[in-house]
Amino acid sequence: MSGVALVIEDDDAIGALVGAYLEQAGFAVVREYTGEAGLDVAMREQLRFVVLDLGLPDLDGFELCRRLRGSADVPILILTARDEEADRVIGLELGADDYVTKPFSPRELVARVRAVLRRAEPLPADAQLHELGELRIDFRSRTVTIAGSPVELRTLEFELLAELARNAGHVVTRDRLLDRVWGVSFAGGTRTVDVHVAQLRKKLGRPGLIQTVRGVGYRLLEA
Ligand code: CA
Repeated sequence: MSGVALVIEDDDAIGALVGAYLEQAGFAVVREYTGEAGLDVAMREQLRFVVLDLGLPDLDGFELCRRLRGSADVPILILTARDEEADRVIGLELGADDYVTKPFSPRELVARVRAVLRRAEPLPADAQLHELGELRIDFRSRTVTIAGSPVELRTLEFELLAELARNAGHVVTRDRLLDRVWGVSFAGGTRTVDVHVAQLRKKLGRPGLIQTVRGVGYRLLEA
């Protein structure tokens, strides 16, 4: 996917920090300090996503969010000083995909951006349905069946299975699973992955389906 990451933030220190982390994560970053300048960039550049500070000197953040969304179907992640503002964004469905409340950890912000992009970028047609022997994963309806019988999975369990399925036959490390499924490395660490894999195995009812590669991670085999 191409396009620039547009960061609209009037606080130079915060903008620089966000920009640096996004660049480190491999995104091409354009920074602007006002809403009008941000809209100009949105008119002339192809945007991959926008990180938008709600408290800008010139334009109301909510209005800006709406106008950015109007000009292109681009994912928007809001930076806000207050929880109530974020509630309003989500509540009014102005088009923001996620938000981060200040002060925030730049690592968390990058993880949120990745999650937003994963949701926004559609799977190619041939990736919408994944069949591995008797295991069938439908990414559109987010349903899983084994030999035709539905398997009820919670969101994280589904994401975990989906990530293993995208790499079927290959080892996926615990760190990668943490990054791709949870998005942030939180206190539970890789132990969290082990616990969820155990639950997933139990629900799938086929212990050999997800193989443990000791000290490394997990591998999904054909059912
Ligand atoms: Ca501000």
